[in-house]
Amino acid sequence: MKVLKFGGTSVGSVESLLNVKKIVESCTEQMIVAVSALGGVTNQLLAMCDMAEAHDAAWEQTLEQVKQRHLDIIDAVCIDGTKEQCRQVIEQFIDGNLRSYYGMLMVNQDLEDVVRSQVRDAIVAHGEIMSSAIVSCMIENAIPHFSPRFIKTRDIEGQRRLDWEATEELVKVEFEGSEEQRVVVQGFIAEDVETGLKTNLGRGGSDYTGAILAAILNASCLEIWTDVDGFMTADPRKDPNATVIPEMTYELAQEMCDAGAKVIYPPTIAPVAGKGIPVWVKNTFNPTAPGTVIK
Ligand code: ADP
Ligand code: ASP
Ligand code: MG
Repeated sequence: MKVLKFGGTSVGSVESLLNVKKIVESCTEQMIVAVSALGGVTNQLLAMCDMAEAHDAAWEQTLEQVKQRHLDIIDAVCIDGTKEQCRQVIEQFIDGNLRSYYGMLMVNQDLEDVVRSQVRDAIVAHGEIMSSAIVSCMIENAIPHFSPRFIKTRDIEGQRRLDWEATEELVKVEFEGSEEQRVVVQGFIAEDVETGLKTNLGRGGSDYTGAILAAILNASCLEIWTDVDGFMTADPRKDPNATVIPEMTYELAQEMCDAGAKVIYPPTIAPVAGKGIPVWVKNTFNPTAPGTVIK
């Protein structure tokens, strides 16, 4: 069994989603596919919170754009026979849930900070909930599972942390012994173990979702599918001379992630390093490139 994580750009356009479909459907091993929100959507969901809180009704136009982008993608990538239902699901999330959350932030200017941040968490979870709904309707025989059922966080002294014990137990209940060949889950999102409210693993946290699942289920590998050819000597956006590192140790990867290499979210390395599970960093836009293996 292996775990594949596709980041925002990988699920952000029709072209990239069709690559995701090819990559997943050409693999015969049992797998869990964890997906991020469509590229840019998490930022938009949060920017709309700021607008609503500032009494700026411009969030309504942005929400309409977000809805249209999801609907256009459904038309282009989802399997015939799933499109109508997928469209209805997205419309319910946008015109039902999100519209009322933003309306609540706009009308209730004196919400307590703690409630405001709970509403933000509930809103931001919709990015991955919607992208995973689309990916589940795009991949043949995909079986959707809901990450907040088994990825649990706990607030300790005001700090949100993964509740490893609760998560380990629930992930095993959800997946151990399962014969489902292609599971699709949301990256990033979680649930507070005590309150049952939606939470998340922090920005960039979908990589961590992949690592948690890979480690608990003793996956053969974790594949991080992104928009560059591998883990590089530097951020290629800043340094045109950056080159791909074909192979690296967990220690070097951890050091570079801690120093700001955005390609992998820093908490991702420890769970897979602890189990000796190799991590491949691969390019969704150039899938035959060898990529990087971290081991
Ligand atoms: P995803 O949406 O797939 O999670 P991210 O934007 O989080 O993608 O991470 C990929 C980006 O990380 C690349 O586009 C690149 O600009 C940036 N990056 C920063 N440092 C590195 C590095 N050392 N190697 C590769 N990419 C890096
Ligand atoms: N969508 C979330 C973010 O933008 C999580 C992720 O992409 O890993 O931070
Ligand atoms: Mg990322």
